[in-house]
Amino acid sequence: GPLTVGEFAKQLRKEASEVIRKLISFGTMAAINQEIDVDTMILLGEEFGIRVVYKEIVDESNFEELEEHDDPNDLVERPPVVTIMGHVDHGKTTLLDTIRESKITSGEAGGITQHIGAYQIEKDGRKITFLDTPGHAAFTTMRARGAKVTDITILVVAADDGVMPQTIEAINHSKAANVPIIVAVNKMDKPDATPDRVMQQLTEYGVVPEDWGGENIFVPISALNGTGIDDLLEMVLLQAEILELKANPEKPARGVVIEAELDKGKGTIGTVLVQSGTLRVGDAIVAGNHFGKIRAMINDRGRRIKVASPSTPVGILGLSDVPNAGDAFMVFEDEKKARAIASQRGLKEKQAAQGTQAKVTLDDLFKQIQEGEMKELNVIIKADVQGSAEALQGSLEKIDVEGVRVKIIHSGAGAITESDIILASASNAIIIGFNVRPEPNARAMAEREQVDVRLHRVIYNVIEEIESAMKGLLDPEF
Ligand code: GDP
Repeated sequence: GPLTVGEFAKQLRKEASEVIRKLISFGTMAAINQEIDVDTMILLGEEFGIRVVYKEIVDESNFEELEEHDDPNDLVERPPVVTIMGHVDHGKTTLLDTIRESKITSGEAGGITQHIGAYQIEKDGRKITFLDTPGHAAFTTMRARGAKVTDITILVVAADDGVMPQTIEAINHSKAANVPIIVAVNKMDKPDATPDRVMQQLTEYGVVPEDWGGENIFVPISALNGTGIDDLLEMVLLQAEILELKANPEKPARGVVIEAELDKGKGTIGTVLVQSGTLRVGDAIVAGNHFGKIRAMINDRGRRIKVASPSTPVGILGLSDVPNAGDAFMVFEDEKKARAIASQRGLKEKQAAQGTQAKVTLDDLFKQIQEGEMKELNVIIKADVQGSAEALQGSLEKIDVEGVRVKIIHSGAGAITESDIILASASNAIIIGFNVRPEPNARAMAEREQVDVRLHRVIYNVIEEIESAMKGLLDPEF
């Protein structure tokens, strides 16, 4: 990382005052404890006739955090990655199937559809990648460990049913991940379809049609009949153009695991989405804490392929063990290196599980506020009835302790679900359950993801607890 003026002077074997004087001659007023950037260090070196070589020490085992430094000339357009979300029975599966059947990548017709958790189609000569993972998995793969996987959400809303709890949930997940939403108003073939009502309702959640001054594209469709699907895909491509999606294919691949399972005959079968670089058969890879050498790759038509470029989903064979959906993967120079990195990651995970936790909890909130890390406390509210959730939201949003505020990123009626935990984990939020409890799966997941879940029966107690936590007055829990 960067050095302070004092540290750098020592490296140069010069007095700090000399360095400071040079800096002033550049027009920079700097104190001895001030950090200077690499360019300035190189410039200062030149002034003293010393060649400064800057070598960044990178921890490759933490490859999620590695920044990509690409020459802009190496960046090429890549297909958008789309997740379809919405309330149960509003037509997600039907839409995914209709799109898949109608638009198979050219030259691939006749292949047998292989379910690998994602597929790619071609529209007007341009590709679109769809993540085809069910239910909660969609939330996980939409945004894996805080990193963005999905570029665009298609929010399916049945025109005969309108906005429902999972519609709202999908909106909040997309917003928290900063993913633009295209609304597919589905089931337009039904006589009782009322698309205007859907638009009206969505406006309340900040999803507003462009015609009404908002920034969301709405497309009326019938997933069952196939009407409007072409329009929808055109809008996806339009949105993709606006996003200017690019990646550098000329380097070892990085990306994310979409799904993985153990097959008795073949070993670990995983689907990965290449996000940058190009993945090749024979590559040494680390996914999650596991490593391997890619023995074979298949595409979504069940065909063997040898290379996969950015935004391509691909089934891979050859991993030592089964990684989790949402794990990052990266290619390394050889298997030995991959093995070492994988074991280092395994070790780190164990230490992390025992040691400090990075997630926000009410118990260490005050410390985080004091350290200036926290300007907003993200909160998810689940209550027995919508009215309580709203009342609670209103009260919590009024809290302001020395400029730190509560931000409600999702609220709704019903038990605390796995999807709530995923959202909390990805957005560093705490969850408040008001007269509700977590579902058993959600409870286990909260423990695993170290999400702070607080259960209450009295609104006043919730307010008091949050205020005390912000002021550092919370009694420690034992
Ligand atoms: P999901 O739970 O969101 O995946 O919903 P499905 O795709 O399973 O659809 C639920 C039901 O709605 C099924 O019976 C579908 O046939 C039906 N359905 C889906 N899309 C349409 C549509 O555009 N029009 C009509 N009439 N029915 C639809």
